[in-house]
Amino acid sequence: MAGRFYTFAVYRIGMAGLTSIERLGEFGLIDHLTKRFPLPQAPLLTGIGDDAAVYLPAAGKAQVVTTDLLLEGVHFDLGYTPLRHLGYKAVAVNVSDLAAMNADPVGITVSFGVSSRFSVEALEELYAGIAHACEAYGVQLLGGDTSSSRQGLVLSVTAVGEAHPGQITYRHGARPGDLICVSGDVGAAYAGLMVLEREKAVFKDRPDLQPDLTSYDYVVGRLLRPEARLDIVRLLRELGVQPTAMMDVSDGIASELHHLCRQSSCGAQIYAHKIPIDYQTVAVAEEFKLPPVAFALNGGEDYELIFTVPIGQFDTIKSARDFAVIGHMTPDAGIIQLVSEGGEAVDIEAQGWNHFTSTP
Ligand code: ADP
Ligand code: MG
Repeated sequence: MAGRFYTFAVYRIGMAGLTSIERLGEFGLIDHLTKRFPLPQAPLLTGIGDDAAVYLPAAGKAQVVTTDLLLEGVHFDLGYTPLRHLGYKAVAVNVSDLAAMNADPVGITVSFGVSSRFSVEALEELYAGIAHACEAYGVQLLGGDTSSSRQGLVLSVTAVGEAHPGQITYRHGARPGDLICVSGDVGAAYAGLMVLEREKAVFKDRPDLQPDLTSYDYVVGRLLRPEARLDIVRLLRELGVQPTAMMDVSDGIASELHHLCRQSSCGAQIYAHKIPIDYQTVAVAEEFKLPPVAFALNGGEDYELIFTVPIGQFDTIKSARDFAVIGHMTPDAGIIQLVSEGGEAVDIEAQGWNHFTSTP
């Protein structure tokens, strides 16, 4: 994402000089948007065009299915979210859920509802992002559904994947003594959100001034175009490490740890200075006079993986640079503690994102 420049509120969702959806009609629109996708390849037997897609699951593998719903104004703001990124993200967040189960993605369906405010060109942008993500993650577009909406954009992606039943990583598998690991870095997406919301408020008063986001490129990119960490899942397999439990970080690591602990009937102790936080996240936290660790614990949408491994595998994982060991599981069910560099332990609450109150 480095160097990518984001502009505010200039996306081609309006109609001036653009093609209205009405002109193509529903079927014309589906054809137009899906023609860029490759023809069905194995294991897909039938893709778009029939009443349902048909694919041949690999022998002995379990099928893994996940879905996500994204609503304009609730989950994304088109004032600063490029539709191309939104398309990419809608696929990535579903692939991330499959990765968190240690499953390999096979295909996705994409359903959307749009109002007449959107042009065909705007939807082309959305589908360009979807196509890009399909290529990046090696998934096929199986089909979808298309509808008009009264207002705003509604987007839902469902992903199907496969895994050997014994390889699937559930939330309930962690045991006391297991090491807790986090991939990449956390808190950056929330830092990006803080910056974008601040700039949006400025932009509202001075629409002639585009914000300069160059020094925020990493955190903004982390929010607007996250990646699913399929690479981590594959690295762990190469290392011969089977996590005992795994989740993706969509609500902040405090919330994810609460889920892991509750479902595994354990507690957890993590070390503040071991949590991987990017320097740009730290800089934003300082600007907002907030502790960076709060972004990591309670921010959301990083789509990194948090997983536990038996302590006996420490030697195998300790040199992996793609993830950090941040703590360990304990026998104290439900008690999650953050240990400061000075050795002081405090209990941490799960806050996470709550879309019903819209407070982090
Ligand atoms: P139905 O009436 O059975 O819902 P549709 O006319 O909606 O069928 O869809 C026709 C074909 O186009 C189906 O194969 C469906 O999966 C596919 N399709 C519809 N909408 C989309 C979309 N937004 N993205 C991808 N494929 C779509
Ligand atoms: Mg339909």
